[in-house]
Amino acid sequence: MKVVVVVGGVGGARFLLGVKAALGLPAIGPGDSAHEITALVNTGDDVWMHGLRICPDLDTCMYTLGGGIDTERGWGHQGETWVVKDELAAYGAEPSWFGLGDKDVATHLIRSQMLRADYPLSAVTEALCDRWQPGVRLLPMSDDRVETHVVIDDPEQPEQRKAIHFQEWWVRYRAEMPAHSIVPVGADEAKPGPGVLEAIAEADAVLFAPSNPVVSVGTVLAVPGVRQALRKTEAGVVGVSPIIGGKAVRGMADACLTAIGVETSAEAVGRHFGSRHTSEDGLLDGWLVASGESVHVPGVAVRAVPLLMTDVAATAAMARAALELSGVDVD
Ligand code: GDP
Ligand code: CA
Repeated sequence: MKVVVVVGGVGGARFLLGVKAALGLPAIGPGDSAHEITALVNTGDDVWMHGLRICPDLDTCMYTLGGGIDTERGWGHQGETWVVKDELAAYGAEPSWFGLGDKDVATHLIRSQMLRADYPLSAVTEALCDRWQPGVRLLPMSDDRVETHVVIDDPEQPEQRKAIHFQEWWVRYRAEMPAHSIVPVGADEAKPGPGVLEAIAEADAVLFAPSNPVVSVGTVLAVPGVRQALRKTEAGVVGVSPIIGGKAVRGMADACLTAIGVETSAEAVGRHFGSRHTSEDGLLDGWLVASGESVHVPGVAVRAVPLLMTDVAATAAMARAALELSGVDVD
């Protein structure tokens, strides 16, 4: 079976652990299975800092699936230290608000060096995954530079607006500055990464992880060709709600949804993705929401199951429910 999962960072990576387990693979590391999992990973959070190319969502997936993640934080390495960050701060080097760990720097050095030697991000990711052996094919949504920006009121100039990088809005300002809009800069001209459209076309099931619907899943969908491929594939397309009881389970997804005029509820997000059958640009056959929620999305099969990724077993049960709703036979 070929399963494609659209993912961001922490929510996406944790969900992938469950997809692996549901398909009989070890959650962490590689393993033999008749099944193939491909993750289409958001790269809109990527950023150059201190001369390094940082790809937060790709790295979170790679470290999580490869067994190197700090499980408590959900991002960065286990046993991370912060000497480089402190030294940069001592030089007054900006930005100082980004959590650049020492171990992480090695990943970014290798990536930046390869990018400067003109390797595409997809090839760089494959090379980094040689070490981490995530057991999932991690495909950047695009090899082209796409960076999500957020339009806010300029704190220095009254009545003026300015666009800042998503990382600055999210990490530095904790998404507390109201966003007028969220724009994946460069997406219009980006091409899907190698293998992305093929994976969707050849999939038996396509799942949207319970990742941020705007700046993770939404950014992958903004790459030209991806939506069309999702509408055309013979695979069932099923989304998993990151919103439970009208709240994001973790993080500030509500601030992103508000910026695009979507209510923070499982129903509104399901309707935002829409039906492949009864709407002209919709994408879903199925929508998984949390137990106890009564949700109606026209033209989409909605199922309610426990949706908290408390451990691998619970997450595997979620993934199994999503796969079943997509129409494939898991056992
Ligand atoms: P990021 O790139 O690190 O922000 O991570 P993602 O975009 O992949 O995932 C973030 C989303 O995951 C948030 O909107 C959370 O609501 C959602 N999320 C986190 N943990 C859970 C969980 O246990 N269950 C569900 N349903 N969603 C979750
Ligand atoms: Ca992210």
